[in-house]
Amino acid sequence: MKRYLYKIPGMKIIIIFAPLSVSTMSKKKFKRYLVTSALPYANGPLHLGHLAGVYVPSDIYVRYLRQRGLDVISVCGSDEHGVPITLKARNEGTTPQEVVDRYHALNKKAFEDFGITFDIYSRTSNQVHYETASEFFKTLYEKGSFEEKTNEQYYDEEAGTFLADRYITGTCPHCCNPGAYGDQCEQCGTSLSPNDLINPVSTISGSKPVLKETRHWYLPLDRHEEWLKQWILNEHREWKPNVYGQCKSWLDQGLQPRAVSRDLDWGVPVPVEGAEGKVIYVWFDAPIGYISATRELTPEWEKYWKDDETRMIHFIGKDNIVFHCIIFPTMLREEGSFILPDNVPANEFLNLEGDKISTSRNWAVWLHEYLEDFPGKQDVLRYVLCANAPENKDNDFTWKDFQNRNNNELVAILGNFVNRAAVLTHKYFDGKVPELVHLEDRDRAVIDEIGTIAGTVEQSLENFRFREAIKNAMDLARLGNKYLADTEPWKIIKTDPERVKTILNIALQITANLTLLLDPFLPYSMQKLREFIRFGETSWDRLGSDNLLQSGHEIGQASLLFEKIEDDQVQAQLDKLMRSRKKEAPEVDMPPLKGEITFEDFARMDLRTGTILEAVKVPKTKKLVKLTVDMGFERRTIVSGIAEYYDPAILPGKKVCVLANLAPRNLKGIDSKGMVLLSENPDGSLHFVEPAAGAVNGSGIN
Ligand SMILES: [Zn+2]
Repeated sequence: MKRYLYKIPGMKIIIIFAPLSVSTMSKKKFKRYLVTSALPYANGPLHLGHLAGVYVPSDIYVRYLRQRGLDVISVCGSDEHGVPITLKARNEGTTPQEVVDRYHALNKKAFEDFGITFDIYSRTSNQVHYETASEFFKTLYEKGSFEEKTNEQYYDEEAGTFLADRYITGTCPHCCNPGAYGDQCEQCGTSLSPNDLINPVSTISGSKPVLKETRHWYLPLDRHEEWLKQWILNEHREWKPNVYGQCKSWLDQGLQPRAVSRDLDWGVPVPVEGAEGKVIYVWFDAPIGYISATRELTPEWEKYWKDDETRMIHFIGKDNIVFHCIIFPTMLREEGSFILPDNVPANEFLNLEGDKISTSRNWAVWLHEYLEDFPGKQDVLRYVLCANAPENKDNDFTWKDFQNRNNNELVAILGNFVNRAAVLTHKYFDGKVPELVHLEDRDRAVIDEIGTIAGTVEQSLENFRFREAIKNAMDLARLGNKYLADTEPWKIIKTDPERVKTILNIALQITANLTLLLDPFLPYSMQKLREFIRFGETSWDRLGSDNLLQSGHEIGQASLLFEKIEDDQVQAQLDKLMRSRKKEAPEVDMPPLKGEITFEDFARMDLRTGTILEAVKVPKTKKLVKLTVDMGFERRTIVSGIAEYYDPAILPGKKVCVLANLAPRNLKGIDSKGMVLLSENPDGSLHFVEPAAGAVNGSGIN
């Protein structure tokens, strides 16, 4: 039931019960809620960007619904399939299962430590999930929902396996980076397909892969455009502008069929005859993880997934919008028995100190490390991340802002108010709630205001505006501070103790209301505050009452809810970040200059331009390549130690500079005549010194 609070001068709050309306935008009635939070990928630890984008807002929302006594379940779990996990395992010389076991445990604990109260935190390597994903796939397959296509893909004959894009490296056709991946060149940032690579090599065996035919199933999203347009663009105009906008742009561009299977040995096997060696593509498999988790949680899972009276909400980051707004709904609708999400309140990204959070660059604040440095301060981080959430655009987390919000808001406003109310009650009334003697207009206005604030917080939460919600909730503590400052009980205690009774009674009612209103946001501190004023209720419906604490009720001794964060603590965090940045980009250590030489010394070297005609790796060596170089006046054989940096096959045609009068040397049985000039980077990598295109073979360099 939803309460509407009306202010009538001279009266206490009148509470009118109205039929449940879950949001100002959607008029539909719902009996229960299913809240899903994006499944974190189990190949790394969680950082505060994850918390800010998905899990703090979803937890606030779920706690709020529970406080209202609604039927709600909150599901999440680890996404444990996909190529990055198999690659990480390979790089670490371990198994994918070991990788996901490690990060599942770490991330599960991080959520628990921050009070993120999922009803279940499952994982997609579970048996239940294998069954669920398998059944789901089969249903769609049997309905003819997929298209079948055969195309050519790279296959590693030595390893006997098809190669995922990330398992192929080669030379980038755009920047000649010899270490580009089959899906992207990390040097120039171009996205590639494996067929673009020059001299592709399998990272599994090091052999040259061959193209081989393979059959896959596709979800023809293009066939679903019409209803998706109607459903999102017309029926869900209330979705957040960033979400609605992204969906619109996808739909305007036109949707393409998307492969639902791939050749890989880690994942849920495709449950179709003749599909050996194929697994369900991770993007198809992962969202089904929400269903599996619910199945694992309760035998009544179907009522949360298949009953129109359930309101399903997906909390995600912006990188997942297309999956949760377009692809997963298409899967659910195609299956036929499932409901669709009613809202998908996706957030944008949180940056850190002005720079993108990056796992590979170690530019992040890891949750498990935060708690080591700030033990017991979960609520401070929850508060800052919510107050500064990247709701409609990317936003920045800074340690200075963290300190300011803690010191100026949590300590100075909230902590200060509840502490003053408690200390004065102990000082004047032995810790017992005094009675409400006589209400003045000012008191009535304050009591009314409690209800008004609660109403605005509720509206903000219903519309997924969490920044606004927490700001409005803090207004209740501001109201309390202002009330004490205006009424000055410490000044009138000698002359009018009866008046002070009323003032402190109201201040304590505000305190009790704060424990209800702030509980979704600051659960640890509000639990502490409830224990301290000995108030056991948590129901949202009691909010706005001026009689939460009876007169005569004894409160406990005050203890500080929040403490100041000092400059040196903030500096320590900044230093830690800077250290990790240094590690990532070591100071360039160039070789010292050699001793001076005369022009005559230089002139003794005969430097010439040339073009490589042939290049062959010298057998049984790691580095050596035998080059045949056209010097204009003759052909030379030169052995060069470049095999670790250049694939011999791409070398023919390359222009080079040669020290032509270097005494011949025998290397591994080959007479090498001269030396090709290369520059060496601080990391030891080698790069050709190339003459410009017009240089004729054999011309002198001076
Ligand atoms: Zn490139």
